[in-house]
Amino acid sequence: MTTKSAAAAARATVYGYPRQGQGRELKKAIEGYWKGRVTAEALRATAVDVRAERRRQLADAGIHEVPTGDFSLYDHVLDTTVMVGAVPARHREALAADPLDGYFAMARGTQDAAPLEMTKWFDTNYHYLVPELGPGTAFSADSSKQVAELREALAAGLGARPVLVGPVTYLLLAKPAPGVPGDFEPLTLLDRLLPVYADVLADLRAAGAHWVQLDEPALVQDRTPAELNAAARAYRDLGALTDRPKLLVASYFDRLGDALPVLAKAPVDGLALDFTGPAAANLDALAAVGGLPGKRLVAGVVDGRNIWVNDLEKSLSTLGTLLGLADRVDVSASCSLLHVPLDASAERDVDPGIARWLSFARQKATELVTLARGLANGTGAIAGELSANRAALSSRTSSPVTHDPAVRARAAAVTASDTHRSQPYARRAAAQRTHLGLPPLPTTTIGSFPQTAELRTARADLRAGRIDLDGYEERIRAEIREVVAYQEKAGLDVLVHGEPERNDMVQYFAERLHGYLATQHGWVQSYGTRYVRPPILAGDVSRPEPMTVRWTSYAQSLTGKPVKGMLTGPVTMLAWSFVRDDQPLADTARQVALALRDEVDDLEAAGTSVIQVDEPALRETLPLRTADHAAYLAWATEAFRLTTSGVRPDTQIHTHMCYAEFGDVVQAIDDLDADVISLEAARSRMQVARELAAHGYPREAGPGVWDIHSPRVPSAEEAADLLREGLDAIPAERLWVNPDCGLKTRGWPETRASLENLVAAARIVRARLTAS
Ligand code: GLN
Ligand code: ZN
Repeated sequence: MTTKSAAAAARATVYGYPRQGQGRELKKAIEGYWKGRVTAEALRATAVDVRAERRRQLADAGIHEVPTGDFSLYDHVLDTTVMVGAVPARHREALAADPLDGYFAMARGTQDAAPLEMTKWFDTNYHYLVPELGPGTAFSADSSKQVAELREALAAGLGARPVLVGPVTYLLLAKPAPGVPGDFEPLTLLDRLLPVYADVLADLRAAGAHWVQLDEPALVQDRTPAELNAAARAYRDLGALTDRPKLLVASYFDRLGDALPVLAKAPVDGLALDFTGPAAANLDALAAVGGLPGKRLVAGVVDGRNIWVNDLEKSLSTLGTLLGLADRVDVSASCSLLHVPLDASAERDVDPGIARWLSFARQKATELVTLARGLANGTGAIAGELSANRAALSSRTSSPVTHDPAVRARAAAVTASDTHRSQPYARRAAAQRTHLGLPPLPTTTIGSFPQTAELRTARADLRAGRIDLDGYEERIRAEIREVVAYQEKAGLDVLVHGEPERNDMVQYFAERLHGYLATQHGWVQSYGTRYVRPPILAGDVSRPEPMTVRWTSYAQSLTGKPVKGMLTGPVTMLAWSFVRDDQPLADTARQVALALRDEVDDLEAAGTSVIQVDEPALRETLPLRTADHAAYLAWATEAFRLTTSGVRPDTQIHTHMCYAEFGDVVQAIDDLDADVISLEAARSRMQVARELAAHGYPREAGPGVWDIHSPRVPSAEEAADLLREGLDAIPAERLWVNPDCGLKTRGWPETRASLENLVAAARIVRARLTAS
């Protein structure tokens, strides 16, 4: 391999692109179809237009091979399930009757057939539909969607590369189908699946594909030798096919580790590797295996998961090193651009000084083309771009937004005592018992009450100017009055104000903190037609004024019972935002923690004795590689303690997390040192209570006794049964009674009925405790 020829051939490409269209046309068409307002033909026509527009944007930017097949009406893993014929039995009839309705039935369920389960795509906020497989699964190839989308691109005169979820990742993402023993390993189906991939590859070759990309992000996680052997076998067999396009095996989201030598040795034609963040370790690892002689390397040097302008010179230097390691080096983003919004130039409200730091999918495509040109023709060919890039980066480094001396000085001055409560838990618990005077098995809720149509109307009225701020706030106060009066009547022990003022638990705080930025059009797909607009954590974080105190104080003024203050924790504030890439996450977390600590201290000063700091994202941001867990959990738990440790011993700190399987983070939960934790537990019948007990968790816990994910009302006896199961694990002095999660998605009727039953259950069990 010669460095010179590898450079001359350099091109730019991407693995995937946002699917929704410039004005979210696709979302609107699909939801319209579900409601019967848009015909199937009209939906298909919209999809064709959106795909054409995506291709046009990429081609205009100068991307030389556009991805195809990455587009989806719902989810690309679900598309793969259709492609390999692994449709669950309960959906087969519907799919045969009408492919479109059958497809949406798998995604969303019908009266008679449950949908596929949905879960997070690696450590992103995108969710995929989990394949259900069993020993009886028979695969069969249906390449129609892949072939049709490839043909569309070729007909438009473009170079195109179909992108498929690779067979190993597909199986590793699957779970045993209902009725199949839980220890069934989908990977044992590999030999049955590979011929189906061979058929699809042959069809794509026949349709004109020169290259096909097979995505194997599951290989960036810790894998057993057996799993690595399966990967070796898969690519040995696919590589040995005669009737096939060239194969590019792509990995992203982290380093390949032990899978790198496996793929480097495989008889495939190219590898796509991530070189950003922790995946930068791929660089040395690639050199250590002697590079990829005879292969194409696609180098992911532009962060595909964040929205910051790339450091072009730094990327060029990485690319320069890579040139000596492969026959041909192409330039890409680290992963599909699905995870970033479409177009930063649509953000007209962002301060232009900051807007020049932003790069969404369209801008990233241009960056990639610039890098490829610089690589092929020398930096002289991109001198203008380089100097503009240097200016943007230096304006970011020197900006008062990213460098607030007061914030920096305060963060630097944090000491160990700031991150620890002044007294150990046992002493605090005694002080809190005296201070709060709660009964055994105290009852509470997780924070939000139903977000009613009236509340949404009030917000819309405020935005449209139909009411002024005073009018809006009066509606919020009226809601708080109702929520507090209801809780008193229902007999709950620790009340909440109901969070009526919050549209979203992260956005509400982001809008009130310095350093955060909101977008107008920065939509990113979360799942199906659900899109979110994550705030951008752009600069040093501080809190100009209290954010929640007056609402909590108002609620407290209405009742003699304690009202719980309610905040979103620092880890979740980072996890559901686009974070800074110009300083370690730990530093950003510390700044956010200090801002939230001010709020916690102000709540206490205003007379709040119970303060809950929610961290539902603590586990989901766990790094993909186990080796990186400890460092993450250390800063994450420290940020939580920094937020909460400024209070008096008799002020009770709660936290909440919404998951039932938390084995990987139980030590971290202990390290938070919160006085009380509430967790989801109803569906698993208090499994978390037993796990906490097994771990020796010493503090108070509220495993949920009401599954709030469905409108079903649990009876008092049912909730009492769960409580008794909880008591087998956690003693009465340390057990709380609460629902699984917040009530914002519930209606009032089931909320009333369920909470009354929950309070009745607590009374039944308390009565038996005193009797025995
Ligand atoms: N306090 C929040 C609520 O009740 C918690 C939300 C969550 O757990 N995701 O809505
Ligand atoms: Zn929750």
